[in-house]
Amino acid sequence: MLGTVPSIPILTYHGIHVDGDDYAANDHIGLQRDLTLLHELGWQVIALETLIQALLKGGWADLPTRSVVLTLDDGSWFDWYDLPHPVHGMQRSMVNILRDFQQQYGSDAQPRLQATSFVIGSASAREALDQSCLIGRDWWGDDWRNQAHSEGLLQIGNHSWDHRHAALPPGLRYESADKDDRCIEYGSFAQLSDKQECDWQIRQTQIYLHEILGTAPSPVFAYPYGQVPEIVAAEYLPRYGPGMGLLAAVTTAADVVTPDSNRWRLPRYVFRRDWHSPDGLAELLAGKV
Ligand SMILES: [Zn+2]
Repeated sequence: MLGTVPSIPILTYHGIHVDGDDYAANDHIGLQRDLTLLHELGWQVIALETLIQALLKGGWADLPTRSVVLTLDDGSWFDWYDLPHPVHGMQRSMVNILRDFQQQYGSDAQPRLQATSFVIGSASAREALDQSCLIGRDWWGDDWRNQAHSEGLLQIGNHSWDHRHAALPPGLRYESADKDDRCIEYGSFAQLSDKQECDWQIRQTQIYLHEILGTAPSPVFAYPYGQVPEIVAAEYLPRYGPGMGLLAAVTTAADVVTPDSNRWRLPRYVFRRDWHSPDGLAELLAGKV
């Protein structure tokens, strides 16, 4: 029996998910309430990188018994700037929610407080998605990422080049000459089929992140839609990941991370899919220690 070896939940929020003014419909309110709840229940937020180091190098047993990791997906301005949502009013940014917590409870309350923000690389993809999935106010820029990463409360990580999002116009989609210039299927990340496509989605984004951050991004890749192509998890990342600074990858399979987890398929819980209330989160976590 493992006994004292902690299982670690990774929680996922989306700053762009602002669909209402209450907990159940707003990831900003969710993160804010959950952070307080986690603290009150005795959970300690640790950096994703700390978990990865423990997984790869040992020291897992030294982690706090109730360790939890925070991640944010898609990486728009909602992670960094307070923004006036046209329907739901002013939204506190995800980073400011972390800062507010520190302000209220003191920085010793959660000394390792951090969230990893997984971002989309391509500027033209973000511009197109800003029109189709956000409000069309140019709120998906990357101007904040360097400062966020260097200040450290948010770490910036790779969430693919363009998310292979269905809303991207054909002209922006990956095209390969040896595929007769046919656009490959978008709206899914599951069908990556060769190294070229993997390089387009993952390596290209690593290079871009190195450039804009001036240093290494998070060593973790987050699969768009949580979809895990075999070619990526079983071949591409194990072979090429470490060479480009990637040591692990996160899915959205609802489970905890243990020392036995496959580092290229680390599970995560997703807000509003896996819990819908603070009680729901408390319940979800209760069985995990
Ligand atoms: Zn995503």
